[in-house]
Amino acid sequence: MRYCVVGGGFSGAIVARHLAEKGRQVLLIDERAHPGGNCHTERDASTGVMVHRYGPHIFHTADRRAWDYVRRFGTFHPYINRVKAVSQGKIYTLPISLLTINQFFGTTMGPAEARRFIAGKADRTITEPRNFEEQALSMIGPDLYRAFFYGYTRKQWGIEPAELPASILKRLPVRFSYDDNYFTHPWQGIPEAGYTAVIRNILSVPGLEIRLGARFEDIEEPFAHVFYTGPLDRFFGFRNGRLGYRTLDFERFEGEGDYQGTAVMNYCDETTPWTRISEHRHFAPWENITSGRTVCFKEFSRLSGRNDIPYYPIRLVDEKKMLGEYLSMARATAGVSFLGRLGTYRYLDMDVTVSEALSACDLINQTLESGQQL
Ligand code: UDP
Repeated sequence: MRYCVVGGGFSGAIVARHLAEKGRQVLLIDERAHPGGNCHTERDASTGVMVHRYGPHIFHTADRRAWDYVRRFGTFHPYINRVKAVSQGKIYTLPISLLTINQFFGTTMGPAEARRFIAGKADRTITEPRNFEEQALSMIGPDLYRAFFYGYTRKQWGIEPAELPASILKRLPVRFSYDDNYFTHPWQGIPEAGYTAVIRNILSVPGLEIRLGARFEDIEEPFAHVFYTGPLDRFFGFRNGRLGYRTLDFERFEGEGDYQGTAVMNYCDETTPWTRISEHRHFAPWENITSGRTVCFKEFSRLSGRNDIPYYPIRLVDEKKMLGEYLSMARATAGVSFLGRLGTYRYLDMDVTVSEALSACDLINQTLESGQQL
């Protein structure tokens, strides 16, 4: 019997390749017309710019194995994400750095002075932050929190930051230096030919059949084992309810030349309905496109409806309970392994997805070597 992999993002592609390399026959299905999941990239027909179809993706990692793995399947150009932000009528740099602090407060402080200054603003009564807002107030105080996080987060998540987990804010550093790299990982890059080309290369192996435009629900073939990277609740027919996601709407627009001078501009005020504008030619500086038409996307976040693409797992209290139920159902389902952002309902960056898929491959090896069934 063949093995089935549901979903052609990083998780599915890596596991499918591994099984095929181990001599197994594999069917990989994806309901979209392209592999690559939400990392999918394609050349914009009208401008020729390589576009990250489901929003900006920058590969960044501290896991050498994940970094070495992805680079086997495409050339990655070094790329540093330097995010700019509009707040209260001015432009700043993000993450919060010495430059942001000095610009915002109109000061010329050095690192030690700024550290003391921000410590004086931080709410020291909060010793164990219980949510996003407390985390922000205890780290940077109310002024920077209001200017850069409160409005943006309400737009991004649709709820008060006090209802969100502190872990979301912990994704972002606060720096007392002029380092404006959005990420802290040692290896950061974007594939020259786009992510879809990388994933197609991963999938290019004998013994692997790829069926696009196919829904798992419609496949009747029996399989030796299924590796499922689709939405966890959907696998169980939503029988315990729907896990909440935020979805994104992108408003595409074109311009002449350079629209905003940078790849990502965040809009932190609530008076602007979008969260950010991405100008995709800046994600591929090596292409050296400096003139001609440019293409940008305004990004709007909202609660995901039934027919929307799920992006960010919300993981509020209600969802956590439901998630617990689905996870125990998943554990009790023989013959199926659940992987990836959607399969495990977690806010995963690409590198974590790759690392976890490689660990799943290790587990497959151990199981097969011990002569057991997967
Ligand atoms: N965030 C914010 N203002 C910004 C950028 C981020 O308030 O200008 C908050 C927001 O809640 C977001 C979280 O920080 O969800 C994590 O940001 P990150 O850039 O990691 O979000 P992603 O790129 O995954 O959308």
